[in-house]
Amino acid sequence: MKNKLIIAIDGPSGAGKSTLSQALANQLDYLNIDTGAMYRSVALLASQQKVDPHDEAALKKLCADLSIDFIRGNGAERVIVNGVDVSAAIRTPEVSLLTAQVAACPAVREAMLDQQRKIGEKGGVVLEGRDIGTVVFPCADVKFFLSATAAARGQRRYEELLLKGIDVDLQQTIAEVKDRDAADTARTLAPLMQADDAIVIDSTHLTIAEVLQKMLNVVAAMP
Ligand code: C5P
Repeated sequence: MKNKLIIAIDGPSGAGKSTLSQALANQLDYLNIDTGAMYRSVALLASQQKVDPHDEAALKKLCADLSIDFIRGNGAERVIVNGVDVSAAIRTPEVSLLTAQVAACPAVREAMLDQQRKIGEKGGVVLEGRDIGTVVFPCADVKFFLSATAAARGQRRYEELLLKGIDVDLQQTIAEVKDRDAADTARTLAPLMQADDAIVIDSTHLTIAEVLQKMLNVVAAMP
């Protein structure tokens, strides 16, 4: 097997991408890049600095001044933006919704694409997002597309948020997951889309361990 692969994991929200990309990267001793966290960080800063999500010039400036680092500590990954740990702040439902808006802005996508390619081009990396296999690394060595029913994804998101002490309603969480899918799929620039050569894994009835094993089998079978 080639030793420094570029592995893409795309799919809708709540399909298990973050957990699996982290687990896969740990197993392979690769770098894990959560591209959703990058877009979320832009949205968080935009909200803190009261930048209108439709003001492309202001968002471009914000991205130019943005430094994002991923730090792995105690098994969990921390997201550091301009020196501040924003790991929890970027996961609130408000930031999730704002992120889908900010992520449709061409200047934001251009800036993030640039950073993602720089980090990933040398290989030895798992990148997870919506457009990794289609836009960021169309030549990725392995492409996974992780799916699950909206009900299962909403339920998982709901449980994750409750565990974090964020009080939400299940039906509302499922509706928000669906809204975000619709926005991510409908946008003209780099929409959520399955690459033609992606390996699709439906995680609705599978455990994390089962999906991880499937992924490891695919990677191990690489020439
Ligand atoms: O994966 P996560 O739910 O953290 O992503 C948050 C949002 O970031 C998505 O709903 C999408 O709008 C945006 N995103 C994107 N392209 C990516 C990753 C995330 O547009 N590669």
